[in-house]
Amino acid sequence: MGTFKAIVVTKDDGGTRAAYADFDEAELMDGDVTVRVTHSTLNYKDGLAITGRAPVVRRFPMIPGIDFAGTVEESRHPDFAPGDAVVLNGWGAGETHLGAYGEKARVKGDWLIPLPQGLTAAEAMAIGTAGYTAMLAVLALERHGLSPADGPAVVTGAAGGVGSVAIALLAKAGWHVVASTGRTQETGYLEGLGAAEVIDRSELAGPVRPLAKERWSAGIDSVGSTTLANVLSMTRYHGAIAACGLAGGMDLPSSVAPFILRGVALLGVDSVYCPKPRRLEAWARMARDLDRAKLAAMTTTIPFERVIDVAPDILAGKVRGRIVVDMG
Ligand code: NDP
Repeated sequence: MGTFKAIVVTKDDGGTRAAYADFDEAELMDGDVTVRVTHSTLNYKDGLAITGRAPVVRRFPMIPGIDFAGTVEESRHPDFAPGDAVVLNGWGAGETHLGAYGEKARVKGDWLIPLPQGLTAAEAMAIGTAGYTAMLAVLALERHGLSPADGPAVVTGAAGGVGSVAIALLAKAGWHVVASTGRTQETGYLEGLGAAEVIDRSELAGPVRPLAKERWSAGIDSVGSTTLANVLSMTRYHGAIAACGLAGGMDLPSSVAPFILRGVALLGVDSVYCPKPRRLEAWARMARDLDRAKLAAMTTTIPFERVIDVAPDILAGKVRGRIVVDMG
């Protein structure tokens, strides 16, 4: 056993600190599959973990990073053998279990899925947890019975990771997509992904009325707070909004009016402990439906060595689309 390169988050009286270090392989946590990590990503939650801005990390020392793609090195799990290409999202990786920002990871085989057919490891991480969550949100809207025939779909945090993938997926499914962004200079980018309309997010940032003019039948919200409250108040009769994020805040200053007067539904989306069958469904659908040229257009690749430097940018809303981390 040797060491491998990793980002390690430690904690002392001054708070938490993330730094590159050589991690002792003997210190890897329990798991029946050891993976050589080839690619990871930078999600909003990874930004929180690295900067320590929210208590994402629950164990110290921690290797942060909530998702990876890689190749199995050793396995005692019946579904996986050395050489298999695999993907991991969530299950506490980077929070309670040593995560993705290391050259090696040891995890439960039950947490892994095979690299979806038709995707490279780099593409799987261009999608990453943000993209897979966008797909879970689309599936939630469809399970609710909504379709493009019901009216437009709004996407908040449009130029971010979840938002960018959500636009591409909804547009592909035939929705008229209204993209809400604070970066209207990215209108060309958002239209390229499939947005039919781009609105300034300030339209959703004002005082929340119990009910406002009906504008959309469906939505995918990664912002939360006042934005989500306004989105709900503008949702058409019997529409639904899938809520997955808190980039604008954890609160929800809404009223019951949209629910009891318009029959609007708020659909919660969690990617971390989502059961495996639904994960497999989401990844298979993404491999089938996500336009690879659009995926490439929303993706920036950085080397592993830059992750700590770039982490604050995602919290500042400066990252456009998705970031792939090439582990080298
Ligand atoms: P990004 O930072 O890539 O995207 C968030 C976007 O939200 C930004 O790009 C920006 O879009 C907008 N935004 C940022 N700050 C504010 C603000 N203060 N007010 C209004 N809008 C804001 O993050 P991700 O796409 O990776 O994640 C988005 C959210 O979804 C995060 O909160 C994340 O934790 C959550 N998430 C939840 C998951 C789950 O399992 N439920 C899984 C994955 C993500 P623009 O510039 O276009 O306005």
